[in-house]
Amino acid sequence: MNDNLPPHAPGNHAPGNIAPDPCAGLAAIHAQIASAALDAGRDPAEITLIAVSKTHPAAAVQRLLHCGQQTFGENRVQEAAQKFHPLQPAWPDLRLHLIGPLQTNKLREAVALFHRIDSLDRPRLADALEQAAQSTGKLPRLLIQVNIGNEPQKSGVTRAEADLFIRQCRQRFGANLAGLMCIPPQGQDPTPYFRDLAAMAHHHGLATISMGMSSDFISAIKMGATEIRVGSALFGHRN
Ligand SMILES: *Cc1c(COP(=O)(O)O)cnc(C)c1O
Repeated sequence: MNDNLPPHAPGNHAPGNIAPDPCAGLAAIHAQIASAALDAGRDPAEITLIAVSKTHPAAAVQRLLHCGQQTFGENRVQEAAQKFHPLQPAWPDLRLHLIGPLQTNKLREAVALFHRIDSLDRPRLADALEQAAQSTGKLPRLLIQVNIGNEPQKSGVTRAEADLFIRQCRQRFGANLAGLMCIPPQGQDPTPYFRDLAAMAHHHGLATISMGMSSDFISAIKMGATEIRVGSALFGHRN
């Protein structure tokens, strides 16, 4: 890195970086978000970009922070803690989301670290969250993960369980239950799955709809996503 240049200056990149200018990469994603939103008659400002930094180092996160990106997603508690604890004091507006499965034995650490848990996917985890909230007074905001394709290998409540689980979580967690999240089946047109998740959220009056990743966020925005989770399109490929 050339210390004399701001991180977004042209030419200020280590050789071999996949995304040599992270600010230009970020701007390109924002342009795609804006154009998809406008196509769908939506206000681009309704859509939050979550930068998914799993497997990428703290330095890559820092580069994006310097470009103005403030919301990040990680799928492992330990990895997120190591990467983000050192960054948090200097970046008070940084928001961190857990987007991967949460084991109940990691719950306290997760509640302390993450601003939102986007992967509430089973009644046992809801029980544990409620207990932790009662004993610590802390409850993060939550999204319920719906297994929208009813795939056996995927986490999330099945479509059949979703209605009841959403109503129960609403009762327990009130406004802390912010919305729904899904990962549609791979190798299929995601559009009908996105449409169904949005309909489910609207039916329950839940404002936040987290869907769409690097390969399909345009379609997700057209179907009503209020948050998209983008990793490789921002940070390059994961090993
Ligand atoms: C890794 C991951 C993403 C980002 O995936 P990309 O294809 O790299 O954009 C989004 N959501 C979840 C839940 C993930 O685990």
